[in-house]
Amino acid sequence: MDFLPIFRNVNGRTIIVAGGGTVAARRCEIALRAGARVKLFADSIDEDDFTGIRDHQHLQHFARCPEPADFDGAALAFAACRKLDDDRKIADMARAAKVPVNVADRPELCDFIMPSIVDRAPIVVAVSSSGASPILARMIRARLETMLPAAFGKLARFAGDIRDQVMERLKNGENRRRFWERILEGPMATLVFSGDEETARAMLQRELEAAAAEERAGIRGEVYLVGCGPGDPDLLTFKALRLMQKADVVLYDRLLGDGILNLVRREAERIYVGKREGDHAVPQEDISEMLVRLAKEGKRVLRLKGGDPFIFGRGGEEIERLAEEHIPFQVVPGVTAAAGCAAYAGIPLTHRDHAQSCLFITAHGKDGIVDLDWTQVLRPNQTIAVYMGLRLLPQLTHAFLEHGADAAMPVAVVEKGTRPDQRVITGTLADIAEKVEQAGLQSPAMIIIGTVVTLRDKLSWYLPEDGEQETTQGRFIGSL
Ligand code: SAH
Repeated sequence: MDFLPIFRNVNGRTIIVAGGGTVAARRCEIALRAGARVKLFADSIDEDDFTGIRDHQHLQHFARCPEPADFDGAALAFAACRKLDDDRKIADMARAAKVPVNVADRPELCDFIMPSIVDRAPIVVAVSSSGASPILARMIRARLETMLPAAFGKLARFAGDIRDQVMERLKNGENRRRFWERILEGPMATLVFSGDEETARAMLQRELEAAAAEERAGIRGEVYLVGCGPGDPDLLTFKALRLMQKADVVLYDRLLGDGILNLVRREAERIYVGKREGDHAVPQEDISEMLVRLAKEGKRVLRLKGGDPFIFGRGGEEIERLAEEHIPFQVVPGVTAAAGCAAYAGIPLTHRDHAQSCLFITAHGKDGIVDLDWTQVLRPNQTIAVYMGLRLLPQLTHAFLEHGADAAMPVAVVEKGTRPDQRVITGTLADIAEKVEQAGLQSPAMIIIGTVVTLRDKLSWYLPEDGEQETTQGRFIGSL
């Protein structure tokens, strides 16, 4: 960072402006808006530029150059004389008087620079490119302008009016933060935006009473059990993102795709509960207990889960404990790995000509392969999506064949589905295990069994050449 961003209080202080053109006029204007008293030095001023501020009671015009004594006690100085020599003189005088100075379009002569601003007073957003590209800063400002409703200022003033009262009623800082977040995002904000401040005030009083009563009863946290999908952060739901932005603490494991954790509120404490190299994962009971403990401390606890929390995610076990303890929780569904992998590999899980049902199973039992219900598994016109099956693929395909499945039945294995390094290997029940072994596929991987797998080639508009890496995006129109 080349400059320290600060907001300076200049209310009632003197600001020196030298110059009579457009830039000088804008400097006068903003200084007056911030409550400063402006001493303007210019032989002549451009009437058009100064329309509206010319007769401002706090603008004093001197038709001469400033002298060193003029800088005494000034808070800031602006030079915008249009002549470099004149600007330099002003800058020298200001510096001699220890008054920070800004020279228009001369970053090398500046003690401070002026940001582009979005003014929703008392909310002010300032954008600076540190002098590198003021135009880019202005473009960013223009985008922000469209994002912030004009009534934001009103909302901020409204909040400012009752800030002391909230301080008084809610003693706990954490509770106050939560109260404000709820208020400023909720229906009360909408009322303020629509101009109905009276109803908003009544609602606010009710909310404040409720929050104060809650505080007296002892603070209580909550848990968000959030499904993040199989990896691509673009597959998160809006609700997931909203809760990720609210959390005080996050529990995560290795199934999360890169980039997802970066979307969690930056201040949130992060706790890794997954497996480490050569180590065991934190046992499920310990995770559940941790959720309970953190929530009881009054925290908003985010439990991030790969895919969907209720599909082979043990989400049910985690909330069972929460329910026992009467801890409030929310469960947010996510794109499950079978759906994500299928879409990004171009394999429809059901299709009128191929499969009327799709079975999600896990091959992973307590001691190796699970005891599957083979009549159900081998039903015709059905797709099988196998979770946690990669390590057991040879045993699994063997068991399928032993129970009478067709050796030519198509199978796809999708490694790291929806992620930039996704790989897909296709084959049949007879040869897939060997192909996967040869390709050295790693976890996480999804196994899809059924004739729908043949659709992958049919639906492909671009098949990579031999040796060319297959990419997630672009191979199938559906995943673009
Ligand atoms: N709750 C998760 C599943 C957890 S079980 C969900 O709904 O998706 C873990 C298994 O999910 C892995 O062994 C693997 O089979 C599958 N899986 C998760 N993410 C995957 C990914 N990005 N690509 C392929 N398979 C994945």
